Amino acid sequence: MKAQPAPDETARIVVLGRQGSGKGTQAARLAAIYGVAHVSTGDAFRAAAGSGSELGRTLKSYMDRGELVPDDVVVGVIREHLFGPDAPAGFILDGFPRNVGQAEALAEMAGKRGLDIVVDLEADTQEVLHRMAGRRVCTKCGANYNVVDNPTKVSGQCDACSGPLAQRDDDTEDAIRRRLEIYETTTAPLIDWYRDRGLLAAVDAMGDVATVTARVVAAVEGVRQAKTIG
Ligand code: AMP
Repeated sequence: MKAQPAPDETARIVVLGRQGSGKGTQAARLAAIYGVAHVSTGDAFRAAAGSGSELGRTLKSYMDRGELVPDDVVVGVIREHLFGPDAPAGFILDGFPRNVGQAEALAEMAGKRGLDIVVDLEADTQEVLHRMAGRRVCTKCGANYNVVDNPTKVSGQCDACSGPLAQRDDDTEDAIRRRLEIYETTTAPLIDWYRDRGLLAAVDAMGDVATVTARVVAAVEGVRQAKTIG
């Protein structure tokens, strides 16, 4: 990668893309580069599911079937974490919004300030299926790895917190099929929705992790420079 861009704790970036396109991995890297919070609704729901609470069990039943969690629950989580009194100035959103209703709620919450850029990670079906088959998640901190493309230094152990890795409960054949179906019918329309609002940057997500990060950073920097000049 070329020189690192300057941190910007006010950056507001949404990462879109199909399951397995690398959203979680790229969002975490962007958050580290820009110094902003990485907010993944999937990670938040997995943590809640792991707590064994009643809400957690309900969330897990949606996730394990590959179904979307109801909008009011998801929007409530985002409102509380990103637009409440202690909200961070900037964020990298990963896994939200997932449909037009959520995008409208986000636009309303983001207000006049709005978003800086929506990055759509584009990868073909063969590649996303390959990535999901190799995907491993840290059961302690939620960090994402891939046994082939992005392995940990010590097999089965998280580089960041030494926690044990596991396959996600929703990386089963049936749940993957259902999630990809929902993506096509419900989430993909957001690509045009954001393009119409002048926020979309389509990024080729085929290639290794660092190469894709460099492409995403180039897209974000393009928007930031245009804003500075404009
Ligand atoms: P992810 O880690 O982003 O693939 O999300 C895992 C699961 O969490 C999804 O399959 C949904 O069941 C649920 N989920 C995450 N984000 C959302 C969202 N924005 N809207 C509805 N359900 C969500």
